[in-house]
Formats: sequence, C-alpha cells, structure tokens
Amino acid sequence: MTDINDDTQLLDQLKKENEDLKQACENLRGEREALEMVIADAGNKQLRAEIDCMELEQIFLAVSDAMWAARDDGTIIRANEAMLKLLGKPAAEVVGKKCHDLLNYGLCENDSCPREVCSSRVRKEFDVQLPTGPNIYEHYIISVAPLTTIIGTTGFISQFKNITARKEAEQKLEELNLALSEMARIDGLTGIANRRYFDEVFEKEWKRLAREQDQPFSLVLADIDFFKKYNDNYGHQQGDDCLILVGKALKEIILRPSDMAARYGGEEFALLLPGIDLEGATTVGERARKAIIDLQIKHEFSDIAGHITMSLGGAMMFPTQDNSPADLIALADQTLYQAKKNGRNNLTLAK
Ligand code: GH3
Ligand code: MG
Ligand code: MG
Repeated sequence: MTDINDDTQLLDQLKKENEDLKQACENLRGEREALEMVIADAGNKQLRAEIDCMELEQIFLAVSDAMWAARDDGTIIRANEAMLKLLGKPAAEVVGKKCHDLLNYGLCENDSCPREVCSSRVRKEFDVQLPTGPNIYEHYIISVAPLTTIIGTTGFISQFKNITARKEAEQKLEELNLALSEMARIDGLTGIANRRYFDEVFEKEWKRLAREQDQPFSLVLADIDFFKKYNDNYGHQQGDDCLILVGKALKEIILRPSDMAARYGGEEFALLLPGIDLEGATTVGERARKAIIDLQIKHEFSDIAGHITMSLGGAMMFPTQDNSPADLIALADQTLYQAKKNGRNNLTLAK
C-alpha cells in the first residue's frame, strides 16, 4: 500500500516538474524572441548609422568649398577633395599632419589662430589671403566651427570659401565709383574743375576759414574778351578748342594745392584762393592774365588785341558766420564788370 502511494506522489511531482519545465521553456522562447527583435533593431540602427555616415562622408567630400576637420592640437583628421586640390597634395600627405605645417594663412603667429575656437567653442570667420601658386595669392573667408568627435574629443572644422572674384568685383566697383565721382567734378570740355566742384570746395573752405577766424579768402573771376566775335568768326568748334587751351593755362598757373582753377560757366573762369589776401590775388590774377596772352591765340576780330585776352575781377573777404561765398562772388563780379569797363585785358580789384 505504502509503495503505491509513494509512486502516485512521485508521478504527481514529476507531472508538476514537467509543467514547470514547459512553462520555463515557454518563457525562454518568449525572451529569445524579444532578444531577437532587439538584435534585429540594433542591426537596423547600425546599418542606418553606416548609411548616414557614408552619406555625410559623400557630402563632405563633394562640397565645392575646401574643408578639413582637425583635432584641437591641429592634427588633420579629414580633408575633402577641394581641400586636397587647394593644398595640391594627396590625402595621405594631409591626414595626420598639423594644419599649420600644411597651410600658412598668416594667422598662426598671433592669438587669432583658428584653433582658438576649440577653447572658446564659438564659431569664427577670418578674411585671409592664401598662396595658391607661385606669387599668386587669393582671397578666402575661413569659417571655423568647433567639433566634438563621437568619443568626446574636441577639434574644429574649417571651411575655405574663395572670394577672389567677389573681392575683384568690389575693387572694380570702388575704382568705378571713384572715377564716377571724379567725372562729376570735372568740366567735360576743358578737363578742369566744374562749377559744381567749385561750389563744393568754396563752401567747405569758407567754413574752414570762418572757424579759423581773421583769414582772408580771395576770388578772381575771369572772362574772355570778345568771345562772341571769336565764335561767330572762327566757328563754335574753334571756340571750344580755345576754351580748352585757356582752361589748361589757368590750371597751370595755380601752384598751391589749396587753390583751384574752375570753369565757372561759358567763357568765364574762376580762381579760388583760400587764405590769400588781395596782394596774393593780384599776383595770381596777373599771372593768369599774362598766361592767356602768352597762348597767342589769334583773334583778328577782338577790338583790343590781335589775340585772345581776358578781363579779371578780384575781391577778398574775411569769412565769418555772417557772410557767405555768395557775398564774395557778388563782389568779384562787380570788379569784373569794372575791368570790362576799364578797357578789358586787365585785372581790377575790389576797393
Ligand atoms: P565780353 O568781352 O564783354 O565778355 O564779350 P563776349 O563776346 O565775350 O561776351 P558775351 O557774353 O556776349 O559772349 C560770350 C560768348 O561765349 C557767347 C557764347 O557763344 C560763347 N560761349 C559760351 N560758352 C561756350 C562754349 O562752351 N563753347 C563755345 N565755343 N562758346 C561758348
Ligand atoms: Mg561772359
Ligand atoms: Mg566774354
């Protein structure tokens, strides 16, 4: 009896253990499936990361601007095609070398070395000239940004943008603007200062002398005598040629850099003499009058000479806050009128 009971108990126990084992197997299967899913997911992620990495590598290599990445001690870890072309070296001679041994952009010697971004962690830009051939330098903007590698080390990535064409265009534009502003100041016929420039300088110098106080300012207005008759008899073209010669002669008798000979309008010219008193104005005015005679431009129809002559009216004022260039012009105009009345070919001065 006892034996039968023992056998039954053993059987029950075995059954239970069998059930437990089945359950454990079931659990293990579930865990294995979950593990397989995790492994498959990790594999997918790794594949995706590798694809991303390849894509990034392709982008880095294909960017038209030269680029390189370096560790914070300047050791190059990557360089793209454009960078290798700029350096004229294969990758094997670039990767692993120090940036300052490969390229001298004149920034290494001072505190503005691009590697600074590693410590400051702030993006920086540098406008530099790089040697791109024997005695050839080109303009580049180097943008340097901090870089942190996957293992946590710091470095920087530099992008080199060639701005030579832009710089050249800027330079040309600057030259063009300068030429334009010079053209705007020059009389188209005679090539000396025009009325606009005369007014501009007159105003500026007047204000300057008014500030300095008790400084004389002289003006001589000059007008070709019987020029209508010259034009009528020799033709407008020859009249123009005469004006060109007169303008050139007046420019040549001006010796001080602050003085100016300008075409005031038609056959009238002006000599602007800041800081010059009437005595000085007389010297310059007489020099101008004689220079025109010395040209010996034939004028058979002049009532007073066989050649071109000029009448000149000179005046002087002390610029203050209460007077203006217009006052001096009015005074010089009156004396020019007097010079005409006095028989022409003379210099008359304001009393
Ligand atoms: P005056 O001795 O009193 O000054 O006599 P004028 O004949 O010189 O004076 P008027 O004002 O009667 O004549 C000036 C002439 O200057 C008239 C005009 O034909 C001429 N003139 C003005 N501007 C120009 C120019 O740009 N070219 C030429 N060829 N002639 C000009
Ligand atoms: Mg006139
Ligand atoms: Mg005249």
